[in-house]
Amino acid sequence: MPLLVLENVKANYGGIQALKGISMAVTEGEIVTLIGSNGAGKSTTLKSISGQVKVNGSITYGGQNIANLPPHQTSRLGIAHVPEGRRIFPKLTVKENLLIGAFAVKQKRTIEERMERVFSYFPKLKERLDQKGGTMSGGEQQMLAIGRALMGRPKLLMLDEPSMGLAPIVVEQIFEIISELNQEGMTILLVEQNAYQALQIADRGYVIQTGEIVLEGVGKELMVNEQVQEAYLA
Ligand code: ATP
Repeated sequence: MPLLVLENVKANYGGIQALKGISMAVTEGEIVTLIGSNGAGKSTTLKSISGQVKVNGSITYGGQNIANLPPHQTSRLGIAHVPEGRRIFPKLTVKENLLIGAFAVKQKRTIEERMERVFSYFPKLKERLDQKGGTMSGGEQQMLAIGRALMGRPKLLMLDEPSMGLAPIVVEQIFEIISELNQEGMTILLVEQNAYQALQIADRGYVIQTGEIVLEGVGKELMVNEQVQEAYLA
């Protein structure tokens, strides 16, 4: 059974219809990628799931209707959203940023365990615990943004362009960790302009164009699809 199902989801910003009726599904244990060019509606799709934009249509998660639930509630249900541009708190330390991700956890012990877990993926964060987030490199900030999301131990991790603006070697590392998290059971919804990288690790993918899904398929199939190659892999 799918964990997340969107049916005919529409969203507007004033007069602009950013989503014109998106339907897609993510099954537990999958990595699903949503690819598309600038302004296609990728970020808006994630925002509509996490509750940052109002929608029409149906969004169910674990069978429960979550359309238009506010972000603090979707987050409590186990949906984590790592936004585009890695919005960490630049003036707070790495540790403080991570603690914010565990705001709902009361037991100190649990927080410590989760933090150790995050360090196992991102050892650099442990070395930089007392450093201010804003002084770190782009790659480290992306790791912190993902680490913060992991502190909430999400069931569904949604990542908005984690590769943006990062050196290829760092992108490689981040995608490896995404695969690892998935192998350990986490369900992933990955939004990317970097279609090549995303399709390589994804089980399935959707292509979005001006607010509509125009293509869907198994990751490896999409990678060799002519339309995808021309538009996104050139
Ligand atoms: P990008 O990679 O550039 O973020 P995207 O595929 O994520 O692209 P969205 O950010 O979802 O695209 O934007 C979809 C459409 O909605 C675009 O036409 C965009 O200009 C518009 N849009 C997005 N956010 C707003 C906003 N806050 N106010 C008005 N229009 C917006």
